[in-house]
Amino acid sequence: MNYISTRGKAPAVRASDAILQGLAPDGGLYLPESIPKLTLGTADMQDGYAAFATKLLTPFFEDDPLLPELGNVCKGAFDFPVPLRWLQNHSGGCEQNGSLQAELELFHGPTIAFKDFGARFLAGSLERIVRHQGKEITILVATSGDTGGAVASAFHNKQGIAVKVLFPLGKVSARQQQQLCCWDNNITTYGVHGTFDDCQRVVKEAFGKPKLCQQWGLTSANSINLGRLLPQIVYHYYAALLFADRSAAVAGSAKQRSVAGQTTTVWQRAVPSGQATTTGQLPTYIVPSGNVGNVTGAYIAKAMGAPIGDIVLAVNANKTIPDFLVSGTYEPRPSVHTLANAMDVGDPSNMERLRVLFPTHQERVSAMASYSVSDTQILETIERVYKQCDVPICPHTATGEWVRQNHYANKPSIVVSTAHPGKFESVVEPVIGRKLTVPAQLQELLDLPASMIEINPSVEELFA
Ligand SMILES: *Cc1c(COP(=O)(O)O)cnc(C)c1O
Repeated sequence: MNYISTRGKAPAVRASDAILQGLAPDGGLYLPESIPKLTLGTADMQDGYAAFATKLLTPFFEDDPLLPELGNVCKGAFDFPVPLRWLQNHSGGCEQNGSLQAELELFHGPTIAFKDFGARFLAGSLERIVRHQGKEITILVATSGDTGGAVASAFHNKQGIAVKVLFPLGKVSARQQQQLCCWDNNITTYGVHGTFDDCQRVVKEAFGKPKLCQQWGLTSANSINLGRLLPQIVYHYYAALLFADRSAAVAGSAKQRSVAGQTTTVWQRAVPSGQATTTGQLPTYIVPSGNVGNVTGAYIAKAMGAPIGDIVLAVNANKTIPDFLVSGTYEPRPSVHTLANAMDVGDPSNMERLRVLFPTHQERVSAMASYSVSDTQILETIERVYKQCDVPICPHTATGEWVRQNHYANKPSIVVSTAHPGKFESVVEPVIGRKLTVPAQLQELLDLPASMIEINPSVEELFA
């Protein structure tokens, strides 16, 4: 499998090279030359998530030196659960308005947000690539909250790799900041006087300096890196299969009921291996989005053959994308600060990939829907979902739940739950009126000593 730049002016490379480079030499982002079709079923899930991931990612590493180690990379990276939670209302049914509704919980990793998937897969891959090439590297990562913590955690004490994390001072939660600053040894954290966009600009500027890149062996762990995109395909496919299995079981038991004329609890496993279900409607798939890396993974999963219906981007008050879908003109703008701060992005970096996957306005409008959700709506939604379903959700997930409730209430659907609510306790606890339990893995990080270096948004200060 070869990877080509979104800007089309760089040579095609293999996966390992694309992962090591981060950005392509022409400034573009790497995409697979073609999207492999792969029909997976529930039988492929029986050996666990890591084995499923290995199977799904194998075609992306064809002819790559990393292929023999792919299984070990996946085993090391994905060692936590990936559950699909069925939303139940107080009447006990797991359906709302007759349709199955689920949340895909991507927050059971070490830093309790979905970034762990990409960061851990990238770290495992890079560690092996660096070992093969024998030259040390430096990772630069700008973060609006969650990325930096996930990257620092994933790369902490990895041999031959130094990490510089940049975050906007005063624009992340106290717990997010602690997760960025509690590391030592090969991790250095910089608090930047500026916005997330400033942090991203400094990183881009550094990558634009060939001598600096050479000297430090610079590479990127931002969501532009292919090594983060690939693992973000896996869980969407996995969730879609879990959903299909349950819909088929529900359809099967409903049929059984009507035949027998009485209530029965027979649940059929109705999705044979290697065959996506055709029973029932495909779920609408709603992804809380910022840099749109996560949702790009969903589009690729669907193109590979995952049983996914419409894909919808939920965004906060940063509405570059919904405006783009209406006007047809892409207008990046400065980010505005919201309660869903990991999505405070005015110029989503992975948009460049989506614009290549859907090159015309026509194609974009038919493939994409996007809705902007305000801070007030986020708070109302956290309260509603807690009252109706007893499920505390984070502000990012709330954007997705608002979109489901207001635009897709009568359809089967999956909302991607991107972070544990306990990571945003200062927003969530007052709304639901109770304390959230702090997951053990977070408590461990909260108890560590913290340190950082304050800088202005400049490349010189970052490498001083
Ligand atoms: C990063 C992040 C998002 C946005 O994901 P993108 O891939 O940048 O679109 C949403 N929610 C949380 C909690 C995040 O950390």
